[in-house]
Amino acid sequence: MKLFLSAILAAMVTFTGISPAFSQELVVYSARKEHLIKPLFDAYEKKTGVTIKYITGKAPVLLERLKSEGTQTPADLLMTVDAGNLWHAAQVGVLRPVSSAVLSANIPKSLRDPENRWFGLSKRARTIVYSTERVKPSELSTYENLADPVWKGRLALRTSKKVYNQSLVAMLMAAHGDAATEVLVKGWVNNLAAPPFSSDTKALEAVMAGQGDVAVVNTYYFGRLQKKNPHMPLAIFWPNQASGGVHVNVSGAGVTTHAKHPEAATAFLEWLSGPEAQNLFADANMEYPVNPAVAPHDFVAAWGGFKGSELGLEKAGELQADAIRLMDRAGYK
Ligand code: FE
Repeated sequence: MKLFLSAILAAMVTFTGISPAFSQELVVYSARKEHLIKPLFDAYEKKTGVTIKYITGKAPVLLERLKSEGTQTPADLLMTVDAGNLWHAAQVGVLRPVSSAVLSANIPKSLRDPENRWFGLSKRARTIVYSTERVKPSELSTYENLADPVWKGRLALRTSKKVYNQSLVAMLMAAHGDAATEVLVKGWVNNLAAPPFSSDTKALEAVMAGQGDVAVVNTYYFGRLQKKNPHMPLAIFWPNQASGGVHVNVSGAGVTTHAKHPEAATAFLEWLSGPEAQNLFADANMEYPVNPAVAPHDFVAAWGGFKGSELGLEKAGELQADAIRLMDRAGYK
C-alpha cells in the first residue's frame, strides 16, 4: 500500500514536472519599458493567477543574455520592438516556433514570422508628418516623392543607425528593388534640412521650430508631442495610399527556445493578441492593435484611417544588412 501510494506520488510529481501548461509562473525578458508592459502583466496575473516575473533592458543586451544563458535561461518569453529585432532574435536561435490557431487568427500574416517564432502584438506606422504652416497635404504623396528636389533643404530624418529606419529602407527595397531604393534614399539625403537627428522627437521638434518642413517618424512620437501640445502646427500624412501603403512595423514577442513553461508562455501570447489585452497593449504607447477586430484608441483613431503595407515584415530582417549598406552608399548618416 505504502509502495503504491509513493508510486502515485512519484507519478504526480513527474506529471506536474512535465506539464508546464499548468505552471503558475512565467519569466519575461522585455526590451519594452516597464510602464508599457506592467499593466498587462498585472491584468493577466489577476485573471489567471499566473505570476509574471520580468526584467527590462536594451534589446541587444537581452539577446546577448539569452544567448549566453543558453539552456539555463529562466526566460520563457522575449518581448521587443521592431520586426528587425524580432527577426534577428529568431535568426540567432533564441526563439522557438509556436503553433497556435489563436495567434494565426488574431494576427495578420504580414505582422508575424512565417515560421511562427515571433508575433507582432502592437502596430506602429512610420509615416510623414508635415508643418501645417508651410506645407499643404496636397503637396505630399509618397515616401518616394520626398526624394524630389522640391523638398530640398526641407526634410528632417532620424539617423540611419536606428533600426526603425533600417526596417523602413529594407521594406522599400523589398517593394522596389535595390537600385530604385538607392536613388530614393540619395534623394532624401540631398533634401535634408539638417544632419539626421538622434530621435524621432527631435526631428518633429525641428520641423515645429521651422528647421525643415516634413519628417518621417513613428506615429506615437507625434502622439506624445500632440498630448503635450494639442495645437502644435504639425499633422500626419498617410503616404503611398495609391501604391504599397504606409510602412508599418510592430512590437512583439516570441517564446524562447529553452523556455521552461512553453505552453503557459503560448497561452499568455494568445491572451495578448486577444480583444481584452490588445487595447491595453496598444493604447499604452498610442499604437494600433494588430488584431483587426480591435479598434484603436479614440486619440489615435483621430489621426484617420490608412492603408498599411501588407508586405511580410520578415523582409525587414532579411534585408536589414543590405539596407544598412545601401544607406551607407547613399550617404545617409
Ligand atoms: Fe520607439
